[in-house]
Amino acid sequence: MKILVTGGAGYIGSHTVKMLGRKRHEILTVDNLSTGHREAVLFGGFEKGDIRDRAFLDRVFPAFRPEALIHFAASAVVPESVENPLLYWENNISGTVTLLQAAVRHQVRMAVFSSSAAVYGEPERVPITEDHPQRPANPYGMTKLVGEQILADCDQAYGLKSVSLRYFNAAGVDPEGELGEDREVETHLIPVVLKAAARVKSGKAAGPEHSRGGGAVVRIFGSDYPTPDGTCVRDYIHVNDLAQAHILALEWLSRERRSEVFNLGNGRGYSVRQVVEAARRVTGVRIPSRDEPRRPGDPAELVAGSEKIQKVLGWKAVIPELEKIIATSWGYFSKTAG
Ligand code: NAD
Ligand code: UDP
Repeated sequence: MKILVTGGAGYIGSHTVKMLGRKRHEILTVDNLSTGHREAVLFGGFEKGDIRDRAFLDRVFPAFRPEALIHFAASAVVPESVENPLLYWENNISGTVTLLQAAVRHQVRMAVFSSSAAVYGEPERVPITEDHPQRPANPYGMTKLVGEQILADCDQAYGLKSVSLRYFNAAGVDPEGELGEDREVETHLIPVVLKAAARVKSGKAAGPEHSRGGGAVVRIFGSDYPTPDGTCVRDYIHVNDLAQAHILALEWLSRERRSEVFNLGNGRGYSVRQVVEAARRVTGVRIPSRDEPRRPGDPAELVAGSEKIQKVLGWKAVIPELEKIIATSWGYFSKTAG
């Protein structure tokens, strides 16, 4: 299949492009490299450009003539969205609208969209099933919910069929060691913890205030949540298990030709403290941590009910165990960070 992948130079996108390439799909990655890396695109073509740039898209779409779109490109950091919501509306909503206008103009028939568990906000019940009320707790989550709605409207009006995948917390890296998780400013828990472990291991202990996500002390944001140990609970899913779901979604869309929304998680929640402890076990490093105030926009507990995607798409995690997920990342961060 000919697939145009936006954001294919990013963390999840690059892992998915590798998996698609291995399956011999024809791929074109479109990415503005705002957070992605050209060298992470291991298969297919690459066009540097912005999904908000109509002229660029009108050059790229007719030249490649994709049948399908996988849309990863977005701004994707919850606290940043609280500080700068207009950036999120601009990139995630204007970007998605401009991209879908091009997709419709150029007769793309199906799309897979990176949605997020952030669409649910503070859950009323866990595990969260797809029919749970959607009340995002931050602007990032709201842009993902609106993205889903735009796609639902595009199906109704233009017959563009789509699968929205509500990822829970993506984690881990390519077990073959060809890809990583490399952001200029790191805010995600597992990379932050492993970068801290690498710094301790290398003897370069610096305070978190100098860190840009690379300090030797892990800051635990909030220890007064209504969870068993007071810290936030999340459902971590290996990036390759996420990638595999995109392939299953495209195969399903080609067969079924209807739109759907699926959760994508392992159905097991781990607290921030449990993640830090698991990382200590995996790395053998006594990673220091410190309790800090809550981070704005964080729901207490997000755990997926993933029965729907297992039943409908036949998806099953290959690496569901938290320690194994962390171990794949440690293989990367123990070499690159520190
Ligand atoms: P990432 O920042 O590594 O990847 C995003 C990619 O999109 C980058 O390569 C970036 O350069 C590109 N991009 C951003 N804006 C663009 C634009 N206007 N035009 C062209 N390219 C642009 O992030 P990621 O963690 O790989 O996330 C990928 C997608 O998955 C995002 O849509 C994100 O919201 C979603 N998601 C991620 C997680 C997670 O845990 N990482 C969870 C839920 C949803
Ligand atoms: N977190 C933390 N310290 C950090 C980074 C994250 O305590 O340095 C917490 C954060 O508050 C959230 C959880 O870890 O409760 C997961 O955060 P992350 O940014 O990895 O993903 P999110 O759930 O926001 O998408």
